[in-house]
Amino acid sequence: MPPDAKLFAAYDRKGEGKLALADLVDVFNRMGLKRDDPRLQSFFAATSKLDSSSAIDLQTFQSLLKTNPLLIQKAMQGQLIIPEFDRFQDQITEIFDQVQKNDSGKVADYIPQLGKVDPELFGISVCTIDGQCFSLGDAKTAFSIQSTSKPFSYLIALSVHGSAKVHHHIGREPSGHSFNAITLDTHNRPHNPMINAGAILCASLIHPEKEPADRFDHVLNTWQRVCGGRRPTFNNSIYLSEKNSADRNFALAYFMREKKIFPPESSLQHALDLYFQCCSIEGNCDNMAIAAATLANAGVCPVTNDRVFKNSYVKDTLSLMYSCGMYDFSGEFAFLVGLPAKSGVSGVVLLVVPNVMGIAIWSPRLDLMGNSVRGVEFCIEVVKKFNFHTYDTLIAGHNSKLDPRQRFDQVRQGSVVQLCWAAANGDLREVQRLVSLGANVTEADYDGRTALHLAAAEGQLEIVRFLVSHGASLEARDRWGGTPLDDAKRHKRESVLELFSVSSKALAAQFV
Ligand code: GLU
Repeated sequence: MPPDAKLFAAYDRKGEGKLALADLVDVFNRMGLKRDDPRLQSFFAATSKLDSSSAIDLQTFQSLLKTNPLLIQKAMQGQLIIPEFDRFQDQITEIFDQVQKNDSGKVADYIPQLGKVDPELFGISVCTIDGQCFSLGDAKTAFSIQSTSKPFSYLIALSVHGSAKVHHHIGREPSGHSFNAITLDTHNRPHNPMINAGAILCASLIHPEKEPADRFDHVLNTWQRVCGGRRPTFNNSIYLSEKNSADRNFALAYFMREKKIFPPESSLQHALDLYFQCCSIEGNCDNMAIAAATLANAGVCPVTNDRVFKNSYVKDTLSLMYSCGMYDFSGEFAFLVGLPAKSGVSGVVLLVVPNVMGIAIWSPRLDLMGNSVRGVEFCIEVVKKFNFHTYDTLIAGHNSKLDPRQRFDQVRQGSVVQLCWAAANGDLREVQRLVSLGANVTEADYDGRTALHLAAAEGQLEIVRFLVSHGASLEARDRWGGTPLDDAKRHKRESVLELFSVSSKALAAQFV
């Protein structure tokens, strides 16, 4: 059977040669693929002519599949990076509810406009490298991105000039001082691009030969690309407030120019302006999670497949986020959380789980280091629940907390134990998914029990039908010599017995 027909059959519950369009759309929902996902626009355009309650035949299914075969197949087979996305959402929600109780900290007010934000706001969004998204709380409320602009300005500077030129001007060492300290390394360079001096220098390197308006457009266009095509807004009052309370940043720029590390071809005033503008770009958790996921995905935006940055530059950026991204808490954060992150004084934290997902957390109350209190707590709780810490792999062998990748591998093996469990529990979708992944319906567990034994014993009629139609044998014997029919009899499963009363050959033939 060709793969698309096999996939169709796996979802064709009754073997009637059709499947419900709503079931297909439900797969996307459960997998966290959103209706506005650019990769699914052709799919939804094609289905717009159909009724949502329509049943579609194989031919229609094949034409829908063509709109994005890889993504749709992966979703239907549960092969996206987080297969149990609904379960994952529940776990993140638990952490969110717990962290929300923490109301310690204080909103930053050294920039007057920042101090006006409601301290209670709290949002979280997740986007995986396969573009599975979900969010909680105030995830659509805009905030100024502040220092979370820094990794991206660094990436833009790297993309314009390459690593050698950028690192001629900027180091890669934690400074050991606060983010706006007037200090340079032994080569008179800013210590790294994640603190103010380094970020002002990155701004000076972004197309200094161009008009200020074009330079800002270049930055904003790049942000639009990392946010999956959604254009971020700009907060002019934050920008004006920022600029008016920026003596320290002016001092840093003049200090660097005096030390001859500021690129001579670049206007100091314009570089500072661009730096303030970058801090005043507005994002929300939904968009920022996609930006973080672009970093997790080696520079390719997961919802558009647009390669925005070279992967080696992303690697450099993540290394610096790991060592310098969380102000004076960076060492502690690397120890406790073990993941690259960047925070900003508006209360946003971007967390990157390389090769898995990006997370944006926003809550304006800050701790003494300048990091969002809830943001940090959330990150700590996330790695307690999942083995995301970079060095968790050292101990994961005997750890019962399987991370999504490990669970994914387990599912991919089509484990018979999982199939039996899903059959016994009446989870038809899971059975379909495992079978479409290649799980063998005739295989038995260590007691010789097949999925059909368990489905029959539990009276799971739909699953019995499905398994028989996919080759499960009614003659299979467990280690006590019992067949699925014996199980149905013992547990008085009348509907299953009725189904089995047809001879096994005739029964199987009904479904082929
Ligand atoms: N607007 C900020 C500044 O003072 C950036 C602060 C931050 O988020 O670290 O330069």
